[in-house]
Parts: sequence; C-alpha cells; structure tokens
Amino acid sequence: MKIISSAFPYKIIDLTHTLEENISSWNGSCGFHQEVKLDYNSKTEISFRVQQLKMHAGIGTHLDAPAHCNLGKKTIDQLELNNLVAPCVMIDVSNRADEHYSLSVEEIELFEKNYGIIEPESFVIIKTGWDRFWKEPKLYHNNFHFPSVSKEAADLLIQRKVIGLGIDTLSPDRPESGYPVHAAFLGSEKYIVENIAHADHLPVKGSFIMALPIKTRHGTEAPIRLVALIPKP
Ligand SMILES: [Zn+2]
Repeated sequence: MKIISSAFPYKIIDLTHTLEENISSWNGSCGFHQEVKLDYNSKTEISFRVQQLKMHAGIGTHLDAPAHCNLGKKTIDQLELNNLVAPCVMIDVSNRADEHYSLSVEEIELFEKNYGIIEPESFVIIKTGWDRFWKEPKLYHNNFHFPSVSKEAADLLIQRKVIGLGIDTLSPDRPESGYPVHAAFLGSEKYIVENIAHADHLPVKGSFIMALPIKTRHGTEAPIRLVALIPKP
C-alpha cells in the first residue's frame, strides 16, 4: 500500500471536519449522535462494536444538492460523479473576512487580475478563515454573523460556469440576506459545500477536489468527505 501511495502523483488534503457530538450546526442543537448498540459483548467468538448514527443531513462538512431549495431538481443520488470531481480554485479573503464580510464582485475581479479568469467547470472555495472557530460552536455560529457571499458575486461565478461553490462557514448566505446564493447556485443545478475545513492547505489553483457525499435516495443535503488532490512537484 505504501508503494502505491508514494507513486500516487498527488498529495491528499482532507477538507472535512470530523463528525462528533456537539459540533457546530445551523440551528445550534446537536445535529449528530453516535450510539453504541452492541459493545464487543456478543456471544460470538469475535465480538463487535456496533454503532448507530442519527444526524441532520446538513451536518458538518456537507453538500447541498439543487433539490435543497428547488422541488424537482437534482437530489444527492442524482448528482453526476463527473461534476463532483473537479479542478479547484481557492479565493483567500481570510485577512479581511470578519463577521460582516460579504464576498463582492470586486474581490473576484481582483483575484482574476492576479491569477487569471476562473475557468468553467471549476469548483470554487472561498477561504474566509472562519473555521478557526469550528471547535467553539457559539463563536462559529455567532447568531448567524459570519463571512458570506453576495448575490452579485454568486452571479458572476455562475457566469464563469463554475460547477460548485464551497465555503468554510455555515453557509455562503446569512439568513437576513434571503438566501440569494443558494437560489442562484442550486437553481442553476450547481451544488454548494458548507463547513469546509483546512482550506489553508490549498493552493490558489492547480488542485482538484473530490466532493463525495453519502449517497442517499431523494437526499437534498448530505454529509460529505471532501478531499483535495494537489499535484506533487
Ligand atoms: Zn446550504
């Protein structure tokens, strides 16, 4: 196995928060329970620990499918793998993203001036640095005050034909905005990934993401293992 991994031409980065009790969640209640149903005490020769999970579908690092706010659009199980493995672009606004920050068109234009136009089919991650509060749910939630994305910026990314949008906060929309980013992205059959971890390990361009949610029938949201592949030099 080691031989395969050293030959593998990518460094692998885990962009996923660990699911556990009392993690940050949208409504502040515990959205994740892991119960032990059988604890190595079966009568069989080899004993097992058997667990049961109960969780909100939109818990932890998770993916919103178009059906999340559009009846009749694609659900989790209908997403095409082709669209879930994609080149990744990381826009770093962490040195200015406070709780009132909203990603603007100007910010994207500045990024493109420095790094070139965002290419079609890219997955764009907005790195705000807010995941530093992940372990402190009250601060992370902050009464729905966290860095977000403006409608105009979302529209520009959609014009660029990106495949999806990720952010290291609870959501690219704050409730008071009326969810225009969800409406724009999910309405155009794109997807959103929220609560991304470790975006600081990503290069601005040149990496790939694998955004693989658990495959639930009729799912509108699902926990995801989000992984980035960075080409080895
Ligand atoms: Zn969402």
